[in-house]
Amino acid sequence: MSLTTQAAPLLNRLIASSVAIANQAGKIIRDVMKKGELGIVEKEHANDLQTEADRAAQQCIIGSLAKQFPKIKIIGEEEDEPERESCGWTLDVNNLPSVAMSCPPHLLALKEEEVVVWVDPLDGTSEYTQGLLDHVTVLIGIATGGKAIGGIIHQPYYNYKNPGGELGRTIWGVVDGGLGGLVVAKPPKEKMIVTTTRSHSSSTVNDAIAAVKPDEVLRVGGAGHKVMLLLEGLAHAYVFASPGCKKWDTCAPQAVLEAAGGIMTDIKGEQIPYHANVPHRNSTGVLATAIADEHSKISQMIPQHVKDNLKA
Ligand code: AMP
Ligand code: MG
Ligand code: MG
Repeated sequence: MSLTTQAAPLLNRLIASSVAIANQAGKIIRDVMKKGELGIVEKEHANDLQTEADRAAQQCIIGSLAKQFPKIKIIGEEEDEPERESCGWTLDVNNLPSVAMSCPPHLLALKEEEVVVWVDPLDGTSEYTQGLLDHVTVLIGIATGGKAIGGIIHQPYYNYKNPGGELGRTIWGVVDGGLGGLVVAKPPKEKMIVTTTRSHSSSTVNDAIAAVKPDEVLRVGGAGHKVMLLLEGLAHAYVFASPGCKKWDTCAPQAVLEAAGGIMTDIKGEQIPYHANVPHRNSTGVLATAIADEHSKISQMIPQHVKDNLKA
């Protein structure tokens, strides 16, 4: 069945289109860096930045998705810039990437009106401006009924320290529907590695990390990059006891992680809701594990004062 026909399930068409669109967004991000004019703007505070790459990549992602799926609700991190010209690229719907997913039976009749897409055009902006390029991802998360059901994590700079290797890669995942773009690896059994923020720490963040007694802590940028570490078997848990992450940071990573057998919740172990009208901020933090069965043990180790500090 061709992906371009309306007979293909919406979720299959949406995932394949989002893979192609995320690849294009990655190209835009690399082009802006190559030109060297980042156009940095401070948003909520000095550690919350936006660059020309964030703006241009979002315009391309939202413009392309909205054209093909006009009734889907799309929520992007950056302010809309309606006066911006189109990105000069058109999604070729007759030549979508092949994605070997199987649409979960209960989603075969999914309609555009029932879908919310959360877009982080460039996750890890602080790191992008500092040249930590492997921390950067493009995130397109697909939700319905408040749940993250599918996601794309694109790494525009994958392989950049490996001249000769193909630059960039795209991972897609559908909960109970498959995962592609990487071979998932399990983290080592003999130690516990936790990943967390490198640029948005606080005493609460650090108290939570200490309480889970890690052997090693990987402080890296981006929610997408941290979940990649879980998928690659380089960390067991992503612990972030802070209200700083937003729904566009977590929707795609959560869906890909859960497609791979992991789990993501807030720091209290409650589901993160992704309905169109929820507050954007994940005010009760993030707790994710590579192996779903390890989640409740780690969740129980988070101190009560940390949980109480993070109010919905
Ligand atoms: P980090 O783990 O610090 O790289 O953050 C993951 C994502 O959440 C990035 O998109 C950050 O911009 C966002 N984020 C986390 N904490 C904050 C904060 N305090 N203020 C603004 N954005 C934040
Ligand atoms: Mg982000
Ligand atoms: Mg961003």
